[in-house]
Amino acid sequence: MPLLSVVTYPHNSRFEHKKMKRILSMILIAALLHLCGTLYAQKGSFYELKQLQSPQKPRLAFMIHGGAGTIRRGSMTAEKEKQYRAKLEEALMAGYKALQAGKTGVDAVEIAINILEDSPLFNAGKGAVFNHEGKNELDASIMNGKDLSAGAVAGLHRIKNPITLARAVMERSPHVMMIGDGAEQFAKEQNITLVDEKYFWTQERWDALQQILKEEKEKKVSGRYADEPYNKFGTVGAVALDKNGDLAAGTSTGGMTNKKFGRVGDSPIIGAGTYANDNSCAVSGTGWGEFFIRLSVAREIATQIEYRALPIQDAVDLVIKQKLQKMGGDGGVIAVDRYGNMGISFNSEGMYRAYVDINGKPIVEIYK
Ligand code: ASP
Repeated sequence: MPLLSVVTYPHNSRFEHKKMKRILSMILIAALLHLCGTLYAQKGSFYELKQLQSPQKPRLAFMIHGGAGTIRRGSMTAEKEKQYRAKLEEALMAGYKALQAGKTGVDAVEIAINILEDSPLFNAGKGAVFNHEGKNELDASIMNGKDLSAGAVAGLHRIKNPITLARAVMERSPHVMMIGDGAEQFAKEQNITLVDEKYFWTQERWDALQQILKEEKEKKVSGRYADEPYNKFGTVGAVALDKNGDLAAGTSTGGMTNKKFGRVGDSPIIGAGTYANDNSCAVSGTGWGEFFIRLSVAREIATQIEYRALPIQDAVDLVIKQKLQKMGGDGGVIAVDRYGNMGISFNSEGMYRAYVDINGKPIVEIYK
């Protein structure tokens, strides 16, 4: 049956029939051209969506970071660099081996972060920076991508491993976030290790605080830490994809040197410094916390993957190198998606980071 024969015309003359036919053909062609144009414009995202949804076999994935900041080759001794590399590799492989042994992503994240917290090299646990009053005040958070359960702690003075307390909040309390004395009270009830405040004291972090205080005094300005990124590297974090295909992320920090008035950064904020969702990815961040909070960095990355199907590296670069950069913030993230694809992005001079590559080999990197 001819395509247009279904149309009835008011005057069935041959001329009008032809005219109508031409008009309808033109409409049909215009509609087809419009459809082609739309498909062409969307080509990129259709392709990416197909890529993301293709039955790619998930694999174990594990990544850690030890903070981002002004880390230059020139300001690092060979001995110090060796120590950083060794500790990062130790933490990385401890977490990865746990995953290989069938432990969960949450287990792997906690294991690796505990090792970094116990090392004075990093601004978390033992090597935490000092606040303005000369105290160490620790924050941490952890998230399970399987059920979106999460735990966070902030303003701690006596918890040896804040990530372990964050996990206890997630798994053994009805809450998501606990702070200060209350969190420490909960830790006691849960038999989590408390230490004397002196445990966190290190010469290097003390000197860093004295240096900032001196500069503040000389310049007669207050709150330098808030005006300028300063010595804010060393926060630690980990992201994992386990054998069950579940994602997990965790972050632990001493915050920023010279922080004041109960300041809390992004590290214990779910969606800012830490996020995990089996639908999209797991993210742990490090950097200037105020900006990470305002941009909801970790959640923003997950959103780019969940709704726009961006490949993970594009998603982390978009949020760090464009959005964060544009706001004037700095720092970096590690991220892994539900297939085990990994992404790293930072706009600072360096970032302590390590991951296990597709051949199971540990890769440790520090500089740009
Ligand atoms: N993000 C942390 C904070 O603002 C600091 C860091 O990552 O070094 O508390």
